[in-house]
Amino acid sequence: MTKPVLIVGGGPAGLAAAHSLATVGKQSIIVEKEDKLGGAPILSGYAKLVPTGEWAKDAIGGMVTRVEGEDAVTILTNTKVTEFGGSPGDFQARLSNGDNAQVEAAILCSGFTHFDSVNKPEWGFGTFQDVVTTTQVEQMISSGQGVRCPSDSRKPKRVAILLCVGSRDRQIGREWCSKICCTVSSNLAMEIREELPDCHVYIYYMDIRTFGLNETKYYWRSQEEFKVKYIKARIAEVTSDGEKLIVKGEDTLVKRPITIPFDLVVHAIGMDPNVDNPEIASTFGVDLQEHGHIDAANCYGAMGQTTRAGVYVAGAAMGPETIDDSIAQGHAAAMAVLSGLKEAIGKTA
Ligand SMILES: Cc1cc2nc3c(=O)[nH]c(=O)nc-3n(C[C@H](O)[C@H](O)[C@H](O)COP(=O)(O)OP(=O)(O)OC[C@H]3O[C@@H](n4cnc5c(N)ncnc54)[C@H](O)[C@@H]3O)c2cc1C
Ligand code: SF4
Repeated sequence: MTKPVLIVGGGPAGLAAAHSLATVGKQSIIVEKEDKLGGAPILSGYAKLVPTGEWAKDAIGGMVTRVEGEDAVTILTNTKVTEFGGSPGDFQARLSNGDNAQVEAAILCSGFTHFDSVNKPEWGFGTFQDVVTTTQVEQMISSGQGVRCPSDSRKPKRVAILLCVGSRDRQIGREWCSKICCTVSSNLAMEIREELPDCHVYIYYMDIRTFGLNETKYYWRSQEEFKVKYIKARIAEVTSDGEKLIVKGEDTLVKRPITIPFDLVVHAIGMDPNVDNPEIASTFGVDLQEHGHIDAANCYGAMGQTTRAGVYVAGAAMGPETIDDSIAQGHAAAMAVLSGLKEAIGKTA
C-alpha cells in the first residue's frame, strides 16, 4: 500500500499541492500549525486580492473548502512536525500531537512571516496609534469597518502609504524586494479613494515595482483614475505635532526636504523568511538560503526540489512570492513528488 505525502503548511501553496495530489488519487496529510487553513490571506484577513480583485475569503476560502471536501486529504491543525527521518518513499514523521506518520515524500509550504514594523521604530509604528500596516488596512476593509484612524475611529482626510517597510533595507538586514507590496499598496490606495473620495492618498516610494501588467492596472490607473499621488522620497522619520502625524524626508526628485502632515500613515510591510525556518531546516535536513529562506536545489528540471531527496518546497517558503505563483509552485511540487516516486518505482522494478 502506498503512503501519503506530508504537506507542511495549509496556505495557498499547500492547498494547491494537496488538491493536485488528490486529483490523481494520491493521499496527503496537511500539517498546519495554526487553528485553520488558508495561510496569510485568511489568517491575516486580506481584503480584495491583486491582480484579480476577488475577496481573499472567497478565492482562498474556496480553496480551503475544496481541500476540506477531498477524501484523500487528512488535515491536522494546531500541529507541527517535530522529527523527520528515513529516505524517499519511506519517511517517518513525528508530530507535535504525539502521532507518527509514515510518508513517501514531504512538501514544505510553510510560507513567510510578515515584517514586524516595530523593527523600524523611526517610522512611528508602536509609538503612534495612527501608524498602521497594510495588513491592518486589509483587515479594516475585509471586516466591513472601513478605513479609520485607530486613535478615535475618525475617517482620515490624508493618508500616506510608505513603501518598502522591512524590504530593500540593508540597515535592518532585509535587502530583498518583497515583490508584491507596490501593487498591493496601489490597490489599497484606490480602495481608500473609492471609500473616502475626499481623502488624499500619497504613496512614498524608492522605485515602483508594479511588475508586468500591474503597471497599467495599478500604477497608472491609481494616478489617472483615482488621483493617488506618488512621491519619490527618502523618509527620515514619522513624528507627531500633537494633532497630525508628520512625515519628514527628502523628495529625491527635486532634492528638497519635505514635511507633510497626515491623519493615517500606513507601512507597506514586507515578507520576512518564516521565523520557523531554522527549526524546519533542522527537522527536515534541508538547506536555507543566505537570508534564511528555504533553498530550492533546482529551478528548471525538477522544480521544487530541496537539497534533500524526497523533500520538496513551494511558495513563499522560498522567498517573497505572489499567491498565484505560490499556487503554481504547489501544483508543480505535487507533480515533482509524483514523478520522483515514479522514478523510484522504476529503479526498484
Ligand atoms: C500585506 C500583504 C498583502 C498581500 N496581498 C497579496 C495579494 O493581494 N495578491 C497576491 O498575489 N499576494 C499577496 N501577498 C502575498 C501572499 O501573502 C503570499 O503570496 C502567499 O500568502 C504565499 O502563500 P504560501 O502558501 O506560500 O504561504 P503562507 O500564506 O504564508 O502560508 C503558509 C502556511 O504555513 C503555516 N506554517 C508556517 N510554519 C509552519 C510550521 N512550522 N508547521 C506547520 N505549519 C506552518 C502557516 O501558518 C500558514 O498557514 C500579500 C502579502 C502581504 C504581506
Ligand atoms: S514590491 Fe515595491 S514596496 Fe515591496 S519591497 Fe519591492 S519595491 Fe518595495
